Formats: sequence, C-alpha cells, structure tokens
Amino acid sequence: MKHKFQFFVFLTLAVLIIAPCQGKTSGNSLPKVHVIATGGTIAGTSTDIGYEAGKASIETILQAVPELTQYAELDYEQFCNIGSQDMNEAIWLSLAKRVNQVLESGLYDAVLISHGTDTMEETAFFLNLTTHSPKPVILVGAMRPSDAEDADGPLNMLKAVQTIVSPDAVGKEVMCCLGGRIYEAGSAFKNDTHSLNPISEVPADWHLPHNANTGFTIDSLEELPEVGIVYGYGSNSTVALEALVNAGCQGIVFAGVGDGNLNQATLDLASQAVQKGIMIVRSSRIAYGGVYTEGGEVDDEKLGFIASGSLNAQKSRILLMLALTATHDIDTIRSYFRHGVSTQQVNE
Ligand code: GLU
Repeated sequence: MKHKFQFFVFLTLAVLIIAPCQGKTSGNSLPKVHVIATGGTIAGTSTDIGYEAGKASIETILQAVPELTQYAELDYEQFCNIGSQDMNEAIWLSLAKRVNQVLESGLYDAVLISHGTDTMEETAFFLNLTTHSPKPVILVGAMRPSDAEDADGPLNMLKAVQTIVSPDAVGKEVMCCLGGRIYEAGSAFKNDTHSLNPISEVPADWHLPHNANTGFTIDSLEELPEVGIVYGYGSNSTVALEALVNAGCQGIVFAGVGDGNLNQATLDLASQAVQKGIMIVRSSRIAYGGVYTEGGEVDDEKLGFIASGSLNAQKSRILLMLALTATHDIDTIRSYFRHGVSTQQVNE
C-alpha cells in the first residue's frame, strides 16, 4: 500500500514537472497564456549589414521581460523561427490547427504569437477566419532586433500580454500589437517600412470576431488552392496575368489602379479567365476607400468579377483561397467579401 502511495506521489510530481512540455515561466493562478513563437524582427539579432530575423529563441525573448509573470502564467513553444516574408500556406494551416488545439484544450485563456511585421496582417486575418474559439489571440512583433539597445520588442510583448489577459480582449478579432498599440485583423495593414509604429487601419466593411460559428473549417486541409496577385500600373503588361492563368491558378486578385481598375487588355484577359472557371477579385493598390461594383467603371456582374470591398489585395487573396475550399459559387463568394463569413463554412 505504502509503495503504491509513493508511486502515486512520484507519478503526480512527474506529471506536474513535465507538462506542459515546451516551457513555462511561472506557476500561480494568473490567466494562462500559451506563446507560439514564429520569428520576425522581435526574434532578430544584429549582423554587419543590419540584422537577421528569426534568430533568438522565444525563451530569450520572454526572459527579457520579467514583468510578464505579474500578468500571466506563460507556456511557450518555438513553432518556427523565420522572417515573416517566408510565411506560407502550409505554416498558416498548421498554425491555425495548433491555435485551435491549444484553445480547445481548456488549459489556456489566450494565445500570443510572436511574428514578423511584414506579413503579420495576413497571418492575423487568416487566423481570424480559421480559429474557432472566442478566447483572445494576439500577434506581437517589433521593428528593432532583440539585441538592439533600444529594442521595441519587450514593451510590445508586455502590452500584448496585458491586453490579452483583460476581459475586454474576449470577443475581438485576432489582434496585432505593435508600437504599443492594438489593432484588429480586418483593418490592420503595414503602412510604413521603418517606423516603430508601422501599422495603419482602414475602416473595415465587416467586423467579425472569431468564434465557433464564424469562418472556415481547415482541420482536414493540407494545402490551399493556388491564388495569385497581379499588381496594376500605368502601361500595364499582361505577362504576369498570363503566367498565373497558365500556371493553373484557381483564383487571381488584382491590386488594380485607383478604384480597382484594369486596362483594356487586362480586362479582356481576365474575363477570358472567368470563362475558364478562374475566380477574379478586383482590389486596389490604393490603401483607402475600398473597391465596390456600385458607382465604379467595371461591370463586375457582367464580367463575372468580385469586388474586394475594404480588403486589400493580400487579404483578398487569403479570403479567396479559403472561400475556394468551401464553394465555387460566385454569389456566395461575393457575399463573403461584402459581409464576412459569419456561419462556419465546411470544405466542399
Ligand atoms: N522581414 C522581417 C519579418 O517580417 C522584418 C519585419 C519585422 O519583423 O519587423 O519577419
């Protein structure tokens, strides 16, 4: 009996010490936050020419902010360590699955993801459309590497943790924290290459916090449909569009000029692409104002195009990729762009 009891005590202690497996910074009754590290400048280290993103470990980054343990009990895992220019659909899918798994486990109150700023808006938007817990998810980054004397990562990390443990954080879209400020996925976009406060906001057509009812089911997906972006400019060549069509893209997004406009040769080729079953979305290279069928120069209904509304080209691409996993019905996809995805969509 005594042996059994000793073994039980040993087993309990072993479980307490080992789990959760990746790392832990304190043990009390504070909100539990799981940190998923992906890299970026916040994990950058200096080099002769500047710095290299995605070098420092998440352990080092968290250790630089001891105050964090006043606000949350933190676990962490090094999911990847890359500059966010190297983010891709495979990582987005596995990251979304991991966030869902963490939040569904019931062990955590929130997820914090460290991330590069270059594509943070895309990852945030993707996760907002593919995670299904109302518990808060926040992405945090920095513009100066972790070993800079005046590194901005630690303060952003502190702000992100303070934000995510607040009851006000529940029921928000996936958030981004940069320059000590908080942004939501639908409206945030990177608008400055160097400022410590590089994120701006556009008024979004729809505001849709992630929860069990919204977005797309990605559990069984290993890849996403190929969707490309064509940038608009004066004297626009059709070479890039032709290449995407010939490459077999299922969808193409235009970052058109002005109000999502395309020159005549591009319009002609794009409407031929529609006849081949390719989904065409018109967005704009202009940050503000959005692209709408009403009041514009392009007859989207007649040509079979979709207007992006307030979404920029990179976010339109994400919505179109996910939409194509659920439907090929143009009216349904138009409604996603116009009103958001408020009922969870299962893949076809
Ligand atoms: N290219 C880096 C990245 O996105 C630098 C941008 C940053 O993190 O600030 O990861």
